[in-house]
Amino acid sequence: MNKKILLIEDEEQIARFVELELKHEGYEVEKAFDGRTGLQMAESGNFDLILLDIMLPELNGLEVLRRIRKSTEVPVIMLTARDAVMDKVSGLDAGADDYITKPFAIEELLARIRVALKKSGRKGKQESQKLTAKGVVLDDERHEVSFRGERIELTHREFELLKTLMVNKNIVLDRDCLLNQVCGYEYTGETNVIDVYVRYLRTKIDDRFGIKLISTIRGVGYAIKED
Ligand code: CA
Repeated sequence: MNKKILLIEDEEQIARFVELELKHEGYEVEKAFDGRTGLQMAESGNFDLILLDIMLPELNGLEVLRRIRKSTEVPVIMLTARDAVMDKVSGLDAGADDYITKPFAIEELLARIRVALKKSGRKGKQESQKLTAKGVVLDDERHEVSFRGERIELTHREFELLKTLMVNKNIVLDRDCLLNQVCGYEYTGETNVIDVYVRYLRTKIDDRFGIKLISTIRGVGYAIKED
């Protein structure tokens, strides 16, 4: 499906030119010529990216950006006047993903758009990658673990071990495999270090919340089992 771009720019000549180029690249484009209309469209439309001029009638670009950011993480590239350093700083502070200085080469704008879209695509994927098992939620992107909303503080290796078990839910993993995942292939110490980390996890999770998260499979290794 074509990516949808909202262009908020009051200089109609620039707006038309950019629209034409974007359409030529296969993007869908909608335009707004003032800040208020642009904000309304941004809030109601489902856009993949917004190009936002700063000097706009009715509502300036920074204010539009601040309000957009209250409801959505859509990538925003600011269009700023030449050398307006303050605009750039304020724009980035207010949550812009990038900015481009006018006048710009269209190829540069297209490149910035591709980068911003790729970045937001990755972010979207990671956000959906929350792992769950028996009420425990592991958010890989934020590096957070919780049980029914209560935060569980884990060390880096405890986190990696739990993540490996949750990613491979219902699969029994032996100690060597876990060791490689948690400590890296160059690790040459004792494999019973995994038993130690499992014990830590059980203290921090099972004992605290009265659940049985990690099962020991005698002679093989460990698994998180859930129907
Ligand atoms: Ca303007």
